[in-house]
Amino acid sequence: MNLRNELANLIFPTINRTIEDLENEYKERNLVEGAKVTRFAPSPTGFLHTGSLFTSMIAHKLARDSGGIFYTRLEDTDTKREIEGSGEQLINQLAKFNIVPNEGYLGNEEKGDYGPYKQSARKEIYDIVIKDMIVKGLAYPCFLTEEDLNKIREEQTKNKEITGIYGKYAIYRDLDEETAISYIKEGKPYVIRFKSSGNHNNKIKVRDEIRGDLELTQNDQDIVIRKSDNLPTYHFAHACDDHFMHTNLVTRGEEWLPSLPIHIELFKALGFKAPKYAHLPVIMKMDNGTRRKLSKRKDSEASVEYFLQVGYEPKAILVYLMTIANSNYEDFIVQTKDYDLDHFKFNLKKMSLDGALFDNDKLAFYGKEILGYMKKEEIALKSYEWSKTYSKELYDLILELKEKYVDILNIEREKKNPRKDYAKYSDIYENIKFFSRNEYLKIVENKYDFNDKFDDSLIKDILKDYSNNLCLDNDENSWYNSLKEIGNKYNFATDNKLYKQNPEAYRGNMNDLCEIIRVIVSGRKITPNLFAILTILGEEEIKFRINKYLN
Ligand code: GLU
Repeated sequence: MNLRNELANLIFPTINRTIEDLENEYKERNLVEGAKVTRFAPSPTGFLHTGSLFTSMIAHKLARDSGGIFYTRLEDTDTKREIEGSGEQLINQLAKFNIVPNEGYLGNEEKGDYGPYKQSARKEIYDIVIKDMIVKGLAYPCFLTEEDLNKIREEQTKNKEITGIYGKYAIYRDLDEETAISYIKEGKPYVIRFKSSGNHNNKIKVRDEIRGDLELTQNDQDIVIRKSDNLPTYHFAHACDDHFMHTNLVTRGEEWLPSLPIHIELFKALGFKAPKYAHLPVIMKMDNGTRRKLSKRKDSEASVEYFLQVGYEPKAILVYLMTIANSNYEDFIVQTKDYDLDHFKFNLKKMSLDGALFDNDKLAFYGKEILGYMKKEEIALKSYEWSKTYSKELYDLILELKEKYVDILNIEREKKNPRKDYAKYSDIYENIKFFSRNEYLKIVENKYDFNDKFDDSLIKDILKDYSNNLCLDNDENSWYNSLKEIGNKYNFATDNKLYKQNPEAYRGNMNDLCEIIRVIVSGRKITPNLFAILTILGEEEIKFRINKYLN
């Protein structure tokens, strides 16, 4: 047995399977021509970041549109940064956006023939590959201590050199196997490094599906592929996983672009065909006149949970993110008025290159569009579900209003140009709380917001007359005609043309008259359709509100 084999067996005494066995186990996928196999590969280190939703939305869409596979893989090899339960939470949050993987890590279970889909459960696979690399001289044990590494870094910084383990600093790359074997037997701690054959004075040509052909500096770093805790690093693990899971298009944040030369070199050394890569722009925000990345710590917009909490409909968030992703999507919406994302053909080539700016107003605009065009039963049900978790006040109000809640949400809805009052579910409560008698009483407790130009006795006379004839049994027209009678009686112009010609001749117009009724029933000067409000409140409640003022 040669010494490299001996070294490999010493490090991996229980590994007997080979790369060939793995190739046989994880066969090529049987998919239609052009089908894209994409993935979302989160590390379980916290909540779902808006940027991760953005990249997974795109990965999911590309796979779906091409008859491919979108799968999830949990990259949990950094045990120090892991947050208990966050992997499961990430998957659950994605599901709220209807981003459901065809296979992969699904939280408490997994599905598919290319698993395990949790890197911590794939140790044997990585070990098989690393053992083979040692035998082939592509990887080696490195015995540099923390102290050695610090010294090297200091020296490199002092000499203004690139930091890291490469060239003359990679002192263990040519250590003879016999010595390495004896070190390991003595119990010296080590990691395993990749033996790079690159040179940082050379450039390599790489292709990014968004940016096109690029020239990047070749990698020459002997990166760690297996840490002292025997788990792989991201660079190495992703290469193995994307190979054996047959990913053909990696969509990931552009912060990974500088690592691409390492990844390309690894794939080449392993004899694996590299997938295509698309590095997606990072979402930015304006802060005091400068652009910066959304920050997990500083910006609520960085967290998907924040948008769910304030009650954005997941679809509105996706529509908004798609406008960031593809510049032609907004034109598509304007032309088609179609918010079904399945009908839009997303194209990586239409992606903007510089980081997209997050625009809260635009998100609110799409929030209003989506909630505005929703059917009354759907918005009623979805806002009710939302209130259960996020808003006790809305929840209680819905229970109080019962079936009236649907009617309230239906005011000026389900027509060609529906009213768009709500960007998110948390906007509903303030808008409709006056329908509750208790809330109404709180609103008018201090002040009725009548127009100062009408004195109290006039208002009372009008209200008395109106109270005697609410006229709610027929349609809006007959109700309005009966109001006009009151208008005529108190000299409010019932014809706006005449009013405009000679405003002095009148007390006001029908808008002023309606405002008096509006204020008495809602406590507010501005509301949606008054007739609809009156019908929902009903005779008894309207009279109660009028009498409260009169007495
Ligand atoms: N685990 C990596 C991350 O969370 C995945 C990057 C990739 O998609 O390749 O950033």
